[in-house]
Amino acid sequence: MLQVKNISFRYKKQTVLKDISFDVKPGEHLSIIGESGSGKSTLLKLLYGTYDLNEGHVFWKGEEILGPKHNLIIGPEFMKYVAQEFDLMPFTTVAENIGTFLSNFYPEEKQERINELLGVVELKPFAKTKVKELSGGQKQRVALAKAIARQPEIILLDEPFSHIDNFKKQSLRRSLFKYLKEKNISCIVATHDKDDVLSFSDNMIVLHNTKIIANNTPEHLYNNPKNKLIASFFGEFNEINNEFVYANQLKVVDHSNLKAIVKQSYYKGYFYLIEADLNGETIFFEYDTQLEKEKIIFLNQVL
Ligand code: ADP
Ligand code: MG
Repeated sequence: MLQVKNISFRYKKQTVLKDISFDVKPGEHLSIIGESGSGKSTLLKLLYGTYDLNEGHVFWKGEEILGPKHNLIIGPEFMKYVAQEFDLMPFTTVAENIGTFLSNFYPEEKQERINELLGVVELKPFAKTKVKELSGGQKQRVALAKAIARQPEIILLDEPFSHIDNFKKQSLRRSLFKYLKEKNISCIVATHDKDDVLSFSDNMIVLHNTKIIANNTPEHLYNNPKNKLIASFFGEFNEINNEFVYANQLKVVDHSNLKAIVKQSYYKGYFYLIEADLNGETIFFEYDTQLEKEKIIFLNQVL
């Protein structure tokens, strides 16, 4: 189990994290969310032992993970970290990059393993391509494959799909998280994308103002968003009578005490997001078709 105990950290002037504690069990998937600059990347780097902590401790299975003051080589054997700015060898091939940490002693097994990993990140056709010729998203996939090549016990991923286009993102996400679950590899993902979290994380942590303001299952936080930051992570929402109501939880009805005037319709594929005015406040709800501007409608909350 990863145990993070009361850690605090500041860069020269700025305190980024204060008194952070949480646990991650073997095979558990945890997401870290928070606005840009909230310290997600810093937290992953601290777990990896990149910097010395100002306070607190990090343990994996009882063994302390220590910073550069105590270690010549950053990063423990059992842990892999994929940075937001991944680091690859540009002039060698995809296959060679993925095999960086694999032994040359058993060439056949090495080749087999590389093929398996190319499959997980969907890069089989690019095995012999030089990394410098790849797109940002393809490089990101090489970095992911390289990180899981030697089967770590725990992997830290910093916005792992941020450079990957939507065509590939969905299937890659399923493939990678499924692979990690099957191998019982713990995983901590820093992300601002709810799609990385909802289907794949056992737990999520919300960072705000140097603190953890929530630590629970995605389902619990989706159903009980206790502030705007959490609600906005999951989607378009409204604040009605001091409650957070997602746009898809408002339905048009014949009569109700929520009377609104349509202002704009945004096409979203299988629905329209409608912007409307409710007593001078802007609200959003989902509807099957476009609605005429200035049309008066009544809304009801459905849960
Ligand atoms: P996030 O990943 O959530 O966007 P970061 O962990 O990258 O946040 O950054 C948290 C805060 O720490 C930001 O205000 C950022 O400017 C600052 N910061 C990040 N890296 C450094 C650094 N190497 N030196 C000084 N300040 C930094
Ligand atoms: Mg970051």
